[in-house]
Amino acid sequence: MTSLDEARAKDAADPLRHHRDAFALPADTIYLDGNSLGALPKAAVAIMHDAVTRQWGERLIRSWNEADWIDAPQRIGDKIAAIIGADDGEVIVADSTSVNVFKLLTALTAQRPEATHILSESGNFPTDVHIADGAARAAGMDLRLVDRDAIVDAIAEDTAALLLTHVHYKSGERYDIKAGTAAARAKGVPVLWDLSHSAGAVPLDLDDAGADYAVGCGYKYLNGGPGAPAFIYAARAHQADLRPALQGWMGDARPFAFEDAYEPAPGMGRMLIGTAPMLSLLALECGVDAMLAADDAALWAKSQALFDLLTELMADRCPEFTLVTPTDADARGSHASFAHADAWPINRALIDACVIGDFRAPDVLRLGLTPLYTSFQDVWRAVDVLAGIMATETWRDPQYAERATVT
Ligand SMILES: *Cc1c(COP(=O)(O)O)cnc(C)c1O
Repeated sequence: MTSLDEARAKDAADPLRHHRDAFALPADTIYLDGNSLGALPKAAVAIMHDAVTRQWGERLIRSWNEADWIDAPQRIGDKIAAIIGADDGEVIVADSTSVNVFKLLTALTAQRPEATHILSESGNFPTDVHIADGAARAAGMDLRLVDRDAIVDAIAEDTAALLLTHVHYKSGERYDIKAGTAAARAKGVPVLWDLSHSAGAVPLDLDDAGADYAVGCGYKYLNGGPGAPAFIYAARAHQADLRPALQGWMGDARPFAFEDAYEPAPGMGRMLIGTAPMLSLLALECGVDAMLAADDAALWAKSQALFDLLTELMADRCPEFTLVTPTDADARGSHASFAHADAWPINRALIDACVIGDFRAPDVLRLGLTPLYTSFQDVWRAVDVLAGIMATETWRDPQYAERATVT
C-alpha cells in the first residue's frame, strides 16, 4: 500500500506540481470537487478587480471597444477550441450549458422536420434530459430515452438528433466520440456531445473524431467560476446551415445596424443571443488560460496516476465502498465514484473534516481529480480521513443525516 511518504515523492516528481500555485486553495482543505466547481485561479482576482474598477468603473461603455469586450465570446471560444481539439472559429462562449443544448437541439430538429424524436440516454444528466424533452415538444416530437448499451441500436432514420454526455456525471463512464458519431452518421443522424465532465479533464480531439456538435460547462474543469458561461461547438462544415430559433441581436450579422430583419452572423457568432455577461466571461478566461498553460498529455497522465492511487487506497482502507467508475482509463473521465448506502451522511462528515467531495443521489460519493491542482498527498490524506470516519463511525451523528439543498 502506498505510504504518505511515497505520495509525497510522487508530488515531488510531478511535472505539473507548480500549476497548483496558480490557484487560491484554502490550506486546511482537501478539495476533490473541482469537477463540480473548479478552484479560483489567483489571476482572476486581479483581472476581476481591473474589470470592475477600471474597465467598468472608469472606462464605462468605452470598454466594449477599448477592452475588446465585444469579441470575448469568440476569443475565449478559440482558447477552449485548443483544449477540445477544435479549430479557431468552431467554438463560441455563450449562455449556460442548458441553454446551449436547447439552441442546438432546436436548430437540429428544424433541419429534420420529418424526424419523430430526439434520442438520449436514460440517466443522463437531468438538464440534458429536461431540455431535450422541451426541445422535442417544441418541434412536435418526442424524447426517447434508452439505456447506455442500447443507444447505438436505437439510432434510427427518424431520429432528429442524438444527445449524449461524453463522461457520465455520476458513474464517470466515457463514450468514444469517434465511434458514436460514426454510428449515428451511418443513419444520417447528428450527435450533440455534452462535454461538461470532459473538457479540461480528458484528452479531446473533436476535429479528429469527426464530431458534429458539442456543448460544455465553464465552471467545472475549466475553473471559470460559479455559473461561468458555457461553450458551444459546431464543426465548420455545419455552421452555415445552423439557424437558431433564439434569434437575438448579438447573433445577428450586424447588431449595430439596428435592422428589423434578422440575418444570422457568419460562423458561430449566430449562436449568441443577447449581451454577454462580461465579468463572468473575463473570469472564465483566467481559468481557461490556467488550463492552457499545462501540457494536456501530462494532465491526463496525472489524472490516471491520481485515479490509480485513489482506487488502490480505497480498496485497501475503505473496502466497504464499491467503485462504480470503470478502471479502464479509456472508458472513464477524471473522477471516481464510490457507492455506499450511507454515502450522504458520510460525505457530510467528510466535508466537516475539510475533505470536499460530493454526493450524487441515491448512493454515490464522487471524488473529482483535477490534475492541475490535486496532489497525490491530497488523495492520500482524503482516504486517510475517510478511513478514520468509517472506523469511528462519526458519520452516524444525526446532524449529518439532514439533506442540504445543494449536494
Ligand atoms: C454540469 C453539467 C451541466 C450544467 O448545466 P448548467 O446549464 O450550467 O446548469 C449540463 N450538463 C452536464 C452533463 C453537466 O455535467
